[in-house]
Amino acid sequence: MADCIFCKIVKGEIPSKKVYEDKNVLAFYDINPAAPVHILIIPRRHIKSLSEAKEKDKDILGEAQVVAAKVAKKAGIADAFRLLIASGSKAGQSVYHLHYHLIGGWGKKAPKMEVEQDKFP
Ligand code: 5GP
Ligand code: ZN
Repeated sequence: MADCIFCKIVKGEIPSKKVYEDKNVLAFYDINPAAPVHILIIPRRHIKSLSEAKEKDKDILGEAQVVAAKVAKKAGIADAFRLLIASGSKAGQSVYHLHYHLIGGWGKKAPKMEVEQDKFP
C-alpha cells in the first residue's frame, strides 16, 4: 500500500529501530512507547486490520505470535509481557496495517488493563 506508514517501514523508506526480521515478519520499536519496552510486530504483507483477516492469513498471524515470543526473550521481558492488537478506530487503532503491540519491562507489576468495568451498559 503506497500510503501506508508500516509498508514504508517494511520497504526501508521510513527508518525504524528493528529488533527482528525474517521473510514474513518484521519487529521494531514503537516511536511513542506506552511501556518501558514497546515493540511492534507486523506481517510484511499489508493486512488492514484483524477484522479483515482471512483464512489465508492464519499462518502469518501464528508466525507473528511466535516471533513475539522470540522478541520478548531478546528484549529481556519473556517473564512478563502483553501482546495486544487494536482493531478499528474505536478500539484505538491508528495505523491500518495489522500490528501486534508487544509491551513489558514494568518494574514490579504491569499496570491494570484499562477496562472500564463500571461503564459497561
Ligand atoms: P495503533 O494505535 O494503530 O494500535 O498503533 C500504532 C502504533 O504505531 C502507535 O503506538 C504509534 O506510536 C506507532 N507508530 C506510528 N508511526 C510510527 C512510525 O513511523 N514508526 C514507529 N516505529 N512507530 C510508529
Ligand atoms: Zn501497510
